[in-house]
Amino acid sequence: MPKRIVIAGGGYVGLYTALRLRQRLREGEAEVVVVSPDNFMTYRPLLPEVASGTLEPRHAVVPLRAVLRGTRFVSGKVVSADREGKTVVVRPAAGPVWELDYDELVIGMGAVAKLAPVPGLAENGIGFNSLAEGVHLRDHVLRQLEIASATPDPELRRCALTFVFVGGGYTGVEAIAELQDMATDVLAGYPELEAADMRWILVEALDRILTTVSDDLADLAADELTRRGIDIRTGTRLDSAEEGVLALSDGTKLSASTLVWVAGTRPRSVVAELGLPVDDGGRLVVDAAMRVERAEHVWAAGDCAAVPDPERDGVCPPTAQHAVRQGEQLADNLVAVVRGGRPSPFRYRSKGEFITLGKNKAVAEVFGRKLAGSLAWAARRGYYATQIPTWNRKVRVLGDWLVGMPFGHDVVDFGSREAPRGAFEEAARKPARSSTQG
Ligand SMILES: Cc1cc2nc3c(=O)[nH]c(=O)nc-3n(C[C@H](O)[C@H](O)[C@H](O)COP(=O)(O)OP(=O)(O)OC[C@H]3O[C@@H](n4cnc5c(N)ncnc54)[C@H](O)[C@@H]3O)c2cc1C
Repeated sequence: MPKRIVIAGGGYVGLYTALRLRQRLREGEAEVVVVSPDNFMTYRPLLPEVASGTLEPRHAVVPLRAVLRGTRFVSGKVVSADREGKTVVVRPAAGPVWELDYDELVIGMGAVAKLAPVPGLAENGIGFNSLAEGVHLRDHVLRQLEIASATPDPELRRCALTFVFVGGGYTGVEAIAELQDMATDVLAGYPELEAADMRWILVEALDRILTTVSDDLADLAADELTRRGIDIRTGTRLDSAEEGVLALSDGTKLSASTLVWVAGTRPRSVVAELGLPVDDGGRLVVDAAMRVERAEHVWAAGDCAAVPDPERDGVCPPTAQHAVRQGEQLADNLVAVVRGGRPSPFRYRSKGEFITLGKNKAVAEVFGRKLAGSLAWAARRGYYATQIPTWNRKVRVLGDWLVGMPFGHDVVDFGSREAPRGAFEEAARKPARSSTQG
C-alpha cells in the first residue's frame, strides 16, 4: 500500500516539496496530495510589479493543476488535524468538511499581515501580501489620481493624493517605490495635477529602513527614495487611523485615503489551532530536519515555521529563497523516511538580495557585490525570469517586460472589477417614471 503524503498549502513550500517528490519518488512508493484554497501559487517577489502594472496578475502566479500533474490537488483549507488518528479536516469552498488520512503531513500555510493594536487600522488599512491586494492597490492609486483631478475641493484632493505606507522592510519599500514610480510616470496624463501635489510617506518604527539587508544597500535604497520625494519617517509609529485621519507618533496628523500596512507578518491563526508547539511569534517549532517537535510524522517549513538556521545562529528569515530550499530539502527528507532512512538538517546560505524600486531602478547584493540602478534592475529581472517555474510563465513574464520596455505605465483603472454586478444591478432597477406620463 503506497504511503500518503499530505501537503497543507500550495505556496512556495507546497509547490517545491511536491515538485521534488514527484521527481524523486518511485512508482507506487507514495501518493502526494496538495490541499490549498487557491489553484495557483503566488510568486510574491513579483507582486510589487503587479501593483505597478508592469506585470499581468495572471503571469505572476503558477497554476498548480498544470504544474503538478501526477499529484492530487484538493481545492480547500486544512482547518484542523488529529495527530492520533493521522487525519486532517478539509473545508472545501462549498459543501461539508471531510477527513483526509495521511502517513506524513507537511504544513506550509504561509503567513498573513501582523496587525498592531492601532485604533482604526483594521477598518481602514490594507495589506500587501496577496495578489488581490496588489491588483487592488494599483487600481486604487489610479482612482485617487482621478478623484484628485476631478474635484474642486482642496481638502479632498489633498486626502486623495496622500499615500501612507507603514513598515520599512523590503515589502513596504518595494510597494511604495513601485506605486510611486507608476503614479509619477502617468502624471503627464493629468494636466490638473503636479508631482509636488502627491505625498508619499514611509513610516518605520526602527531607526532605519531595510534592517534585513546590509547598511550600504539600505542606504542606497533610502537615497533613491528620498531623491524621488518619498518622505521616510524612521523612529515613527502609526498611533491611530480613525475618521480618515492618520496620527503619527511624531505628532503629524494626515488626512489620507491610502493606508498600506506592511509592518511584518505572522502565521495564520489556524496554525496555532492545530495543537502543535509554536514559538512566541506563533511559528511551528521544528528541528533542523523540519520535523515538528513532539509530533511524529508532521513536518513544517516556510513562513509558518521556525526553521533553525545554522548560518545565523537563530531561525531562518521568512523569505521565498529559504522556503524554496526548505521545500526541496523537506521532500528529500520525506523520501528518505519513506525508504526507512534518516532525514538531513536544512542548511542554506543566501546568495544575494534584490529590491525593486520602480522601472529601471533597483538595488541588489549578489555574491557580496552591490549593484544599483538599471544594472541591479536587469539582474533582478534576469534572476526571477529564470526562477519562476515552467517555460510558460518564464515566457509570459519576459514577454510582459519586453513589451512594456518602450512604453510608460498603463493608466487604465479597472476598479469596476471590484463591483462586477454594478452595471447589471443598475439595469435591473426600475426606470424612473417620466413626468409627462400618467
Ligand atoms: C510583497 C512581497 C514581496 C516579497 N518579495 C520577496 C523577495 O523578493 N524575495 C524573497 O525571498 N521573498 C520575498 N517575499 C517573501 C516570500 O514570498 C515568502 O517568504 C514565501 O511566500 C513563503 O512561502 P510559504 O510557502 O511559507 O508561504 P506562501 O507562499 O504564502 O504559501 C502559503 C500557502 O498556504 C495556503 N493556505 C493558507 N491557508 C491554508 C489552509 N488553511 N489550508 C491549506 N492551505 C492554506 C495559501 O493559500 C498559500 O498557497 C515577499 C513577500 C511579499 C508579501
